Amino acid sequence: MMVSHFSPAMLVAQLFQHVRQGLHDVRTTERVDGPSARHFRARQIQAVLNLLPVVFLGNLVATFTIAVTFWDLFGPWLMIAWVAVSVLSLWAFDRGWRGFIRGAARPLAPARALRWITAHAGLYALAWGALPAAAFPLTTHHGELLIAPVLVGMMCAGGLILSPIPAAAAAYVVGIAVTSVVALQRSSYDNNLSLLTLLAAYTLTVLAVSWLTARTFFSRLRGEAESDRQRQLIDLLLKDFEEHASDWLWEVSVGGRLRHVSSRLAQSFGLAPERLMAQSFTELLSAMLPPGQPEARILFNELVTHLHLGRPFRELELPVVVNGKQRWWSLMAKPLFDERGRAAGWRGVGSDVTDARHARDELARLANVDALTGLANRYSFGNELARVCELAAESGQRCALMYLDLDNFKSINDSLGHAVGDQLLRCVADRLRVCVSVGDLVARLGGDEFAVLTWQTTSESAVSELAERILVALAAPCQLREVRVEVRASIGLALAPRDGLDPQALQQCADLALYAAKGAGRNTFRFFSPPMADSARARARLQQELGVALAEEQFEVFFQPQVALSTGGVVAFEALVRWQHAERGLISPSEFVPVAEETGQIVSLGTWVLKQACLAATTWPAALRVAVNLSAVQFRSQTIVNIVDQVLADTGLDPARLELEITESALIEDHDGARATLMALRSRGVRVALDDFGTGYSSLAYLRRFPMDQLKIDGMFVRSLVQDSDAQAVVTAIISLARALRLETTAEGVENQAQWDLLTAMGCDLVQGYLASRPMPGGDIPAYLARFPLSLG
Ligand code: C2E
Ligand code: CA
Ligand code: CA
Repeated sequence: MMVSHFSPAMLVAQLFQHVRQGLHDVRTTERVDGPSARHFRARQIQAVLNLLPVVFLGNLVATFTIAVTFWDLFGPWLMIAWVAVSVLSLWAFDRGWRGFIRGAARPLAPARALRWITAHAGLYALAWGALPAAAFPLTTHHGELLIAPVLVGMMCAGGLILSPIPAAAAAYVVGIAVTSVVALQRSSYDNNLSLLTLLAAYTLTVLAVSWLTARTFFSRLRGEAESDRQRQLIDLLLKDFEEHASDWLWEVSVGGRLRHVSSRLAQSFGLAPERLMAQSFTELLSAMLPPGQPEARILFNELVTHLHLGRPFRELELPVVVNGKQRWWSLMAKPLFDERGRAAGWRGVGSDVTDARHARDELARLANVDALTGLANRYSFGNELARVCELAAESGQRCALMYLDLDNFKSINDSLGHAVGDQLLRCVADRLRVCVSVGDLVARLGGDEFAVLTWQTTSESAVSELAERILVALAAPCQLREVRVEVRASIGLALAPRDGLDPQALQQCADLALYAAKGAGRNTFRFFSPPMADSARARARLQQELGVALAEEQFEVFFQPQVALSTGGVVAFEALVRWQHAERGLISPSEFVPVAEETGQIVSLGTWVLKQACLAATTWPAALRVAVNLSAVQFRSQTIVNIVDQVLADTGLDPARLELEITESALIEDHDGARATLMALRSRGVRVALDDFGTGYSSLAYLRRFPMDQLKIDGMFVRSLVQDSDAQAVVTAIISLARALRLETTAEGVENQAQWDLLTAMGCDLVQGYLASRPMPGGDIPAYLARFPLSLG
């Protein structure tokens, strides 16, 4: 129960614990105070040394009183020696103890100093006390009455004066006590015991008081050391902060004025300290805001709101004008409170973040701008379109989206080089900028694709006018260093909200309209209409199915004979591909070939047809040729000559029996490449025919420039030949032209005898058409040839 709590053993243990703690509190070992211990020791010694003059005086009085009183008792020589020892010792202590201390700014003392001082103090007490103790039993009552208070006084004074060095104090007090006990013992008092008890009580009290004083002294020492350490730390941090060149500290009072202005702060504001103190902090900043920037005012108001509400803030960026230059400052601050919790102003840090801000702005600019033309890029265009669409959805605001694609950019880029291509794009960008209204967005989406977004021109007629204006502006040739380049463009237009409100849908509409504009012969513009979306869907489906058809070889090659008008005999068969679709039956090439050309699938399909046609021809009589259509995409591909070589080698067909039909579109772009391909093919003996002549450019220049063997007059002229004199004139002209250039002529789409006869009369060489035969599967050819003889001409 509670008993154990008060057991003597417990009490002793507690006492012991107290003593231990007390010892610990007044010790200056490295283990307790670490690196400060040596400094603490020096401070202890200094504290004692400071009092030595007082001690000296007191001691002098006591010493001489004793010496004068007991002069006769011990004779002069002993007395003089005692006085000399007691006075000179004090002088020696002063000298000797000072000698332990090293360093002026931060004095230090070794551990042995305290041991020495303790020994000095103990010995001194014994030496000094020895004389009065010796005198005590020999003297009168009067003498005893003098000795007792002198010894007690010496003990008290010494104990207190030495208290900064507790061990020395203890040694001294005990020394005096010991001499006093000896004195009492040697005297012949009856009440000796009570005096001894009293002496013991005194001694313990003095010891206790000196310990307590020591503790106070030590706690002050340690407190000072701690605050010293903190001050050093703060100094270090502040120094570090000051050296960090772009930051400054600011502190404002409740009234909003700066409390003090450091040189760094004055320098940052570019203002004299008096000016800074004359106005409130917010007034200062307000006056520094760059004029004509509403966003600056918004940011400033944000700062004022924080200050009003007493809300701490950080990384608040504010534009300011310092010495006529715009800078960006980042501010952070916390409200201050006094000890009663009332607002006491603000303290914070400001940093100049101009460079970081510029770097960030530049990055943002680069992310939004097309580097070549300086127009908006696809990314920022997408953002802006999304914003405008949102606005349109909310407020009914209308806008128009224009996609623009250059018709002949690729050929210019290929033939004149990328440097010229880049210049051309810049020239186009400049012209677009001039055409649009202020506030419209012009962007380059990539390659030769441009876009215009306008919410000022939104009626269909006004948008048409804008498109027209752009086409006219682009039509003027661009003078690029040493070349003049003519560029044409196709434009697709979509209107919001009419064609949609979703940015993606709107872009798709403009894209489809652009596709339609290109299909309509280029250098023109088209508005989006819903049927475009239907045909686009059909086309997309067809593209997908074409892939499958290629893999599964759902194709078949039909052949249509070409007949010589002079003999009525067959001279060749044209290979015409057919798609045997699983659900939709036979699909015409005029439907799927353009799609295959778009996707590039025509290359593999065309190669397959070429191979089938050549293979079939090897089974025919050697006099018969086979004509194979080559699309422009195939013709322009780098590999076409190799493919022809390969197929001829694989099938073993005589090159002279192969005729390749190309259209003018294959020749328009990349003249040199086209010519080289033609030469390469013809050098192998392969014949080349120009298909659909009369429908395209039909330029005489082409015929002169490109070596060819045959000209195919388009069925369009043949169809109206009999009734239309204009058609007759064109056909007559073509035939005479071909003659002049030593080209064979073939008339396509001959369906009746009248056409046949007329063409014979006009001097046409060959005919092809339903009258002779519809295109037939390869297997039907032997039977056909059995009925119709070959031409032997
Ligand atoms: P094309 O080269 O002008 O072929 C002649 C087209 O006229 C063929 O249509 C043929 O069936 C048709 N035709 C022949 N005689 C008559 C006639 O008397 N009256 C009428 N109204 N039409 C006649 P098809 O087979 O539908 O081919 C259409 C086009 O598809 C071809 O026009 C050709 O440009 C292309 N094509 C066909 N096969 C291939 C091929 O294997 N590769 C490539 N690249 N294109 C091909
Ligand atoms: Ca053809
Ligand atoms: Ca044709």
